[in-house]
Amino acid sequence: MGEVQGIRRIALVAHDNCKAALVQWVKRHMDRLHDRELVCTGTTGRLVRKALEEELGSAATAVNMEILKSGPLGGDQQLGARIVEGKIDMLIFFWDPMQAQPHDVDVKALLRISSLYDIPAACNAMTADFLIASPLFLNPPQTPPHDFSSYTERPL
Ligand code: PGA
Repeated sequence: MGEVQGIRRIALVAHDNCKAALVQWVKRHMDRLHDRELVCTGTTGRLVRKALEEELGSAATAVNMEILKSGPLGGDQQLGARIVEGKIDMLIFFWDPMQAQPHDVDVKALLRISSLYDIPAACNAMTADFLIASPLFLNPPQTPPHDFSSYTERPL
C-alpha cells in the first residue's frame, strides 16, 4: 500500500442510538476509509470491525484499526488525549441529542478539545458526508502548529 494522502487518522464514535447511522456511514464511504487509520471507542469499534468484515471480507484484516476503551469507561477521554498529542486528524462523533449519557462530561470534553485543536469534526451523518467528500479530505490545508503562547506564556 502506498503512502496515504490527506486525512489519515480518523476517530469514530457513536452513542448507542446513533451506532446504526455510523455503521451505515462507514459502509457508504468504505472506498475512502479502508486505507486510513481508524481509531474507535470500544463498542463502536466492534461494530465498525463487523461492518469492515461484511464489506471487505478477508481484506478487512488489512485495515489499520485501533479500538480504545468503551466511551463510558474512558474511551472519549483517550480520544481527547490523542487529539492533544496531535494523533487524530478528523473526528466523526455521532453523539445522541435525545439522551443524556452517564459520561456527558467526557462527551463535552471531547467536543471542546476537538474545537480547541481545530480538528475537523462531524456530529451527524450529513456533516460527515460533507467532510469526507471534500477535496480537503485528500489535500488538507497545511496549517502552522497551534500557538497557545498567549495562554502558556501569560504573566504569572
Ligand atoms: P462506545 O462509546 O463506542 O464504547 O459505545 C461511545 C461513547 O459513548 O462515547
